[in-house]
Amino acid sequence: MGYTILIIGAGASGLMAAYELSGAGFSVTIVEASARPGGRILTLHDSGFSAPAEAGAEFVHGSLPVTLGLLKMAGISYHPVKGKMTRVRKGEWIEQDLFSGDWAELMERMGSLQNDVSIEAFLDTYFAGDRYALLRSSVRGFAEGYDLVDLRRASTLALYKEWQEEGEQEYRVEGGYSRLVHYLEGACLARGCTFHYSTPVEEIQWQKDKVAVQCATGRTFTGNRLISTVSLGILQLAAGLPFALRFTPEIPAYRQAAAEMGYGSVIKVLMEFRSPFWEKKEKGIGFILSDEPVPTWWTQFPGKSNLLTAWIAAAAMRNFQALDAEGRLSACLRSLAVLFQVDVAFLKQELGTYSIHDWMMAPYVRGGYSYETVGSGAARARLRQSLEDTIYFAGEALYEGQALATVEAALNSGKDVAQKIKAQS
Ligand SMILES: Cc1cc2nc3c(=O)[nH]c(=O)nc-3n(C[C@H](O)[C@H](O)[C@H](O)COP(=O)(O)OP(=O)(O)OC[C@H]3O[C@@H](n4cnc5c(N)ncnc54)[C@H](O)[C@@H]3O)c2cc1C
Repeated sequence: MGYTILIIGAGASGLMAAYELSGAGFSVTIVEASARPGGRILTLHDSGFSAPAEAGAEFVHGSLPVTLGLLKMAGISYHPVKGKMTRVRKGEWIEQDLFSGDWAELMERMGSLQNDVSIEAFLDTYFAGDRYALLRSSVRGFAEGYDLVDLRRASTLALYKEWQEEGEQEYRVEGGYSRLVHYLEGACLARGCTFHYSTPVEEIQWQKDKVAVQCATGRTFTGNRLISTVSLGILQLAAGLPFALRFTPEIPAYRQAAAEMGYGSVIKVLMEFRSPFWEKKEKGIGFILSDEPVPTWWTQFPGKSNLLTAWIAAAAMRNFQALDAEGRLSACLRSLAVLFQVDVAFLKQELGTYSIHDWMMAPYVRGGYSYETVGSGAARARLRQSLEDTIYFAGEALYEGQALATVEAALNSGKDVAQKIKAQS
């Protein structure tokens, strides 16, 4: 096509954009800071676990067309996630579903909201008082724990849109999400894309139809279009801070837009035991939501596996981050001991391999995923507009649709930006 496209980032979004653009005949160069593709998709192989284990994205949240379409094309199978969702309060197992009780009333009220407000303000206005104390704590826990939001900033209308999808069948990718990444990377290579790993971009110098990126390795790459797929966490870093990108000339309106959007974080802990001791408590456990310091756990059910995964966000995450390595392990084991009424000593004996992934500390990611704030629609619209048809932004945070903050969102965004470049070239 005569144009050279530079793509920063070989995550789902960058790979998808590269795949589409190289398929249309563009010359594509991908520059990636880390030594591997995938970004927030990180399937651990050869890390001491007996099977591939997901340290980043794990679920396909519903019948998502781009993700499932690619999996089919790649011949990668996936299987439905099953298992009971249990809540545990003060060690007591409660069979009540999170989405029962007052949840229907909540959704109805959210759906009739005219002007968007933060979820915190919404709960204070419409669900105040003792009558709704349990609902308020469940909603806060779900929004902070699952959507990784700051309650004072998160858009009630966006959460409503997303929570309407709850209950859809979810899937896990057989052998791990990284298989999809490697399929895309292979397809891009076959179409002539060039990948440069372990090559962090530090500065983007640009003018209309001309871009030069300076990398920490001393290399410079030039092109006619640039797609930045770095996470919102990276875009929100002021120039000069570690891992931040510098633009020359600077792009203050885009920086401001990024700051107005929401980006949360999470810690994921993978623990493989010598036996699935939790099955003695109950068969078919899927997810456990509790009030323990390490609150959320899941099994690999219906898959046969001795792996338990912990998910730690919000206040629980901040408390966990204050602990040293030994304290973190102890916190996980103590929470499990309460949940399953077993001794910590027994759990220590049963524990094989474990690994802790604090995504806030992941160098070129700096967090988990985005969420919508009140008014972030306008900010996202700004970021979705190219700078003089030369600099484009993509990534999960730039996606507009139902599957917010997911791999599907990232793939869609990469596809979308590729379409724009094709249309404008
Ligand atoms: C713990 C966790 C669990 C998740 N679970 C799920 C799930 O179950 N299902 C789901 O659908 N989604 C899940 N997600 C979200 C999903 O992983 C992301 O939405 C998606 O992978 C984001 O892809 P992306 O391409 O937009 O960004 P990224 O994957 O962040 O890719 C951006 C790339 O840019 C690179 N980069 C950054 N700065 C530079 C630089 N200066 N120079 C060069 N390269 C740079 C990064 O190294 C990275 O590879 C999860 C995320 C996390 C963190």
